[in-house]
Amino acid sequence: MKIKRALILLFAMLCIAVTPARTDSGIRVSVDGRYISFTDAEPIIYDGRTMVPVRAVFDALGAEVDFNSKGVITGKKGNSTVEMCLGNKYIISNGIPSAMDTVPIVINSRALVPARYIAESFGYTVGWDSQSKTVTINSRSYAPAPAVNTPQTRDEDVRLCFIDVGQGDCTLIEDNGHYMLIDAGETEYGSKVVSYIKNMGVNCIDYVIATHPHSDHIGGLDDVINTFDVKNVIITSEEAVTASFESLLDALEKSNANIIEAMPGKSYTLGLSTFRIIAPAGLDDNSNNNSIAIRLSYKQSSALLCGDAEKEEELYMVKSGENITSDVLKVNHHGSSGSSCNEFLYKVKPKYAVISVGEDNSYGHPSMNVLSALNAVGAEIYRTDLNGNVVVSLTGNSVNVSTEKNEADKRTEKMLKNVVLNTNSKKVHLPECDSASKMNAKNKRIFSGSVEELIEMGYSACGYCRPF
Ligand SMILES: [Zn+2]
Ligand SMILES: [Zn+2]
Repeated sequence: MKIKRALILLFAMLCIAVTPARTDSGIRVSVDGRYISFTDAEPIIYDGRTMVPVRAVFDALGAEVDFNSKGVITGKKGNSTVEMCLGNKYIISNGIPSAMDTVPIVINSRALVPARYIAESFGYTVGWDSQSKTVTINSRSYAPAPAVNTPQTRDEDVRLCFIDVGQGDCTLIEDNGHYMLIDAGETEYGSKVVSYIKNMGVNCIDYVIATHPHSDHIGGLDDVINTFDVKNVIITSEEAVTASFESLLDALEKSNANIIEAMPGKSYTLGLSTFRIIAPAGLDDNSNNNSIAIRLSYKQSSALLCGDAEKEEELYMVKSGENITSDVLKVNHHGSSGSSCNEFLYKVKPKYAVISVGEDNSYGHPSMNVLSALNAVGAEIYRTDLNGNVVVSLTGNSVNVSTEKNEADKRTEKMLKNVVLNTNSKKVHLPECDSASKMNAKNKRIFSGSVEELIEMGYSACGYCRPF
């Protein structure tokens, strides 16, 4: 009987230990790794700030609290004191008055206070994980269990995962248990990028690179930085007055990441590979030309990733004397015609080119000229709009590519509008293709419909304009 009771008690204790106190609002608060259980009132998000019930938070911090009829809340722990007042943004923290960005409030006759200011007054550090809606309050001496990535059991290939983020860029590099993320697409792709990385069993990311402040590159980075233990963030000094840049700064401020300003010529180690910063040398008026460009090398294999670099930055790299010849090229600026100039492509000599681009994007990326220039240097082309996620493995002396979608399947499903058929050569052209305008009128036919129909009729795509 005694044993049974002891077991029940043990089970009950285990339940308390492992079940975080998740409230209706979904917000959890942990102090030195233990979750606070809220009984009579629960935390809420008010005016963008997490507000917690006054008693529960002071109790959890081991502080005494006095709450008088005038709405003055006075807390004391050891030599530290804090004083605030309902509806008032002023706080006196250890004798020093300052203004908070929110005010203590009463909801359903319960007083709610901003957790951050109280905890900080008592010398705690405060973090917020938006993904799990958890406020983490830790005393400075508290050492959380170190975040460790699950060891990689695969061979030691270095993998570049070009994550399909529509019209944007996002590349995760995985190197024997070490990770680097370059950009994370637009804001709305943040959660997709986070789940992609989580699904790989990753907890910490060694390096995050924000190539340049355009939202199709940095938009999702705040979610990544708020979710994972990011060790280093490489960024340029360029600033932007945009919501996505502000969110990135907020996330950086909250994180413990080491901020590194990109300097050409600096090299870093990631697992078994190294990467070197090639550009930018300074700041240009065109943000694209300020993109951080890196060359990653692993034994004899290499890859070059330069964000949205346009011709000017490409020529700088060509002339810089840096080795930019690479097996794999992430095509600059989503395959735009202002990038991938011949001088650059002939110097890089990519065997594989990956274009990160959105299906039917309004910019007309990738440009026909860039596709044919890549063909001309002998690069095998992969595109996230046609292939979905593209994974390129560097083995050290060769490169393997695998894609989420089979390009052929995707291609036959594609619907075409007003393409030009040559009934004689059985070729299909885009209306703007040179061959379409030069075509003999009697062989010319305008067609709208699926690629599948065209293939059934014996047609194939023009190799120059590539309508499908
Ligand atoms: Zn871009
Ligand atoms: Zn850009």
